Amino acid sequence: MDRICFDCRNPLFGRIDKKFCNDQCRSNFNNQIKAESNNIVKSVNQVLKRNRNILHNCILNGETKLTRVELLIAGFALHFHTHTYQNQKGESYSFCYDYGFRALNNDEFLLIKNSDAK
Ligand SMILES: [Zn+2]
Repeated sequence: MDRICFDCRNPLFGRIDKKFCNDQCRSNFNNQIKAESNNIVKSVNQVLKRNRNILHNCILNGETKLTRVELLIAGFALHFHTHTYQNQKGESYSFCYDYGFRALNNDEFLLIKNSDAK
């Protein structure tokens, strides 16, 4: 079976465990992998930052409750958060950095800043 370089796809000669023609191909390949994983991290970070900005702006405007639809219209991605927090009453908040939200019974969400979490 012909073996090919992971990077340039040219045939490989020599050692059986060889994956690249040379150091240049190895470093091209590794840089590409790194760039791809950076892009994934970057796009998730963008979603988290947008979520945080939405919560921040709502609270700044005095809005501490929003419906699911209002959040979605604002561009909020409900499944993206950085961590969760459960208060002593057992109520669970999802946080986007320093801002949190919690689903209420009536399709509304309660919005809080970190320092309000009790
Ligand atoms: Zn190569």
